[in-house]
Amino acid sequence: MVPQVVGGHVLGEVQGAESMNDADVKTARLREAADTLARIEAKGTCTHGHHQVRSDGTVTCLRCGRVWPTEEEAFTAHDEFLQ
Ligand SMILES: [Zn+2]
Repeated sequence: MVPQVVGGHVLGEVQGAESMNDADVKTARLREAADTLARIEAKGTCTHGHHQVRSDGTVTCLRCGRVWPTEEEAFTAHDEFLQ
């Protein structure tokens, strides 16, 4: 199997990489994203990862209290930390 490089990390270092399927690759990417967000939040910056959708359609961040008019804008604000 050709080693796959995701985000600069060689997945071949992970045990059982020989049988890595798409789900495993996706899990590795999610884990990397979680690490990135954790590093940002450790500095005291809210990445708006915990949303609550109100009955009027607006979205509130459960951590910092920021409000977005739509769920899409809330997810965009969160995704910007992963660019
Ligand atoms: Zn927030």
